[in-house]
Amino acid sequence: MLELFRFPGGVKPVSHKEASAAAPITRAPLPKLLVVPFRQSATGAATIQVVAGEKVLKGQIIGVAEGAFGSAVHAPTSGLVRAIESRMLPHPSGLAAPCAVIEADGEERWVELSPLDPFDSDPEIVRAKIKDAGIVGLGGAAFPSHVKAKTVIDTLIINGAECEPWITCDDRLMRERADEIVSGAIILGRLMAAKRIFFGVEDNKPAAAAALHAAVGGMPPPSPQPLSREGRGAFHADAQTIQVISVPTLYPAGGEKQLIRVLTGIEIPYGKLGPDFGVQCFNVGTAHAVARAVQHGEPLISRIVTLAGNFARAGNFDVLIGTPIDALLALGAPLPDTDRVVMGGPMMGFTLHDTAVPVVKASNCLLAMSPALFPPPKPAMPCIRCGACTRACPVVLQPHELYWYARAKNFGKTQEYHLFDCIECGCCAYVCPSRIPLVDYYRFAKSEIRAREREKLAADLARERYEFRQFREEREKAEKAVRLAAKAAETKAKLAREEAAKVGAGETAIAGEPGNTETALAGEPGNTETASVAPVNDKLALIAAAQARAAAKKAAVAPQNTAELTPDQQAQVAEAEARRALIDAPKDSA
Ligand code: SF4
Ligand code: SF4
Repeated sequence: MLELFRFPGGVKPVSHKEASAAAPITRAPLPKLLVVPFRQSATGAATIQVVAGEKVLKGQIIGVAEGAFGSAVHAPTSGLVRAIESRMLPHPSGLAAPCAVIEADGEERWVELSPLDPFDSDPEIVRAKIKDAGIVGLGGAAFPSHVKAKTVIDTLIINGAECEPWITCDDRLMRERADEIVSGAIILGRLMAAKRIFFGVEDNKPAAAAALHAAVGGMPPPSPQPLSREGRGAFHADAQTIQVISVPTLYPAGGEKQLIRVLTGIEIPYGKLGPDFGVQCFNVGTAHAVARAVQHGEPLISRIVTLAGNFARAGNFDVLIGTPIDALLALGAPLPDTDRVVMGGPMMGFTLHDTAVPVVKASNCLLAMSPALFPPPKPAMPCIRCGACTRACPVVLQPHELYWYARAKNFGKTQEYHLFDCIECGCCAYVCPSRIPLVDYYRFAKSEIRAREREKLAADLARERYEFRQFREEREKAEKAVRLAAKAAETKAKLAREEAAKVGAGETAIAGEPGNTETALAGEPGNTETASVAPVNDKLALIAAAQARAAAKKAAVAPQNTAELTPDQQAQVAEAEARRALIDAPKDSA
């Protein structure tokens, strides 16, 4: 026999599962209008692929997975996309998000499906298939399964504990569709190279465990082997050992870390996850969805939802994603004193703000509440520090300390006390003699911390943008200054070149005159030294010399009208020149 381990804390609330677990799963009728949110996973919304007025087929992709952590969204039936608009989601925040409103045509015409042989396909192709099928954790976490299936592990745990009171959707699924659950588990085990697969089922579900046993018996290799505390290395690396294990009914045995602890003895510490210790966990519903996606090509467009609590007809329904919760509630016929509806169980669920919201992939149970079934809590009393909450906490936290710091809004201290390791199981509030709604305080503190982190992130982004803008402006200013300086230098160089060209032109003009052989030589081809590189002063001297020679030449060729005068005439001219000279002479010299 496999040795089982006990996790710390835990409580044993009354299960109240009989009524809904008694009847087989019933297919919910096709509603006239379906509202399909594009955000169906814990890690983000899908990118919208359809527009209003477009016709879609059942299973057609209407939102593609974004990035490595994205998850695809599909049309749950064939029909017409009436609108793409923001609608309220079934979420504690009550916030709205983009949804496709699809009017069913009633024909249920499927898109062409493309199944895979999981044992004859590359694991990456199988993983891509799971991603494209939009499969997320159906235990309530809605984390994309293809991301979880990436790790190489030693032990795969398929979680059929379903520990929360009232909820029975996994119980009925295991009883009715055990073969597909086991197929999905084997596919997941192969993807992660798991050496062994454990199905953990609480011992208050013997029929479900028996169905899985029968399904496992028909699967190769069928031989479950006992495992001792030291026996982790006892299996051959290629062997895949599958075992169905009944675990003691103790809430919250279905918590991931708690089930890992029970089945393997491994205690996952704060801040760590199962894969850090070679263990990965999937819900039975997720394993079933994986088998449908891979072996039949069907995307995740429906899930099993429990109707429990104050209903005339409690039960489990196979419901299309996007079905209005109002329409689903009507199938169970809520009793007249129903005063609110909780999505999830009484320990971890939350009250719906509005029952017109749609069923989503994370909707495992709708619990109708009435004052008779769930009496309003009596007023909370002061904490008496009795320590009952600490003893009940399965995560070994100090709930009363968390409560004090959350109440005082000392969020730094709540984080020091590992607030984010709290799985909101409600065990502490369940045992608190002062009836303090402890989990409400933890949720409040978590949402405040997340909001502040978002604000800080937004402020950091704004600061980074501002600093980048300043840097860009400075850089542009500097670049402009460099450009202007370069332009000025170019202009100056151009002017200098033009000046030099002018000087050269004057010299060449003079050199080109007849008789001016010296400068003509400078202008000759090949005599580039004098023509192009002579300093300016040398050039000026050359110009002066050239001008003198030109003047002399001019004088030489000027008309000589005094050359043939008589001596008397010449004497008169000389006398006149002497008088002119006397007149032109400066006065002081006169
Ligand atoms: S159980 Fe309640 S009263 Fe007791 S220590 Fe915890 S919070 Fe305080
Ligand atoms: S709700 Fe959180 S603090 Fe309370 S018992 Fe559960 S894990 Fe511990």
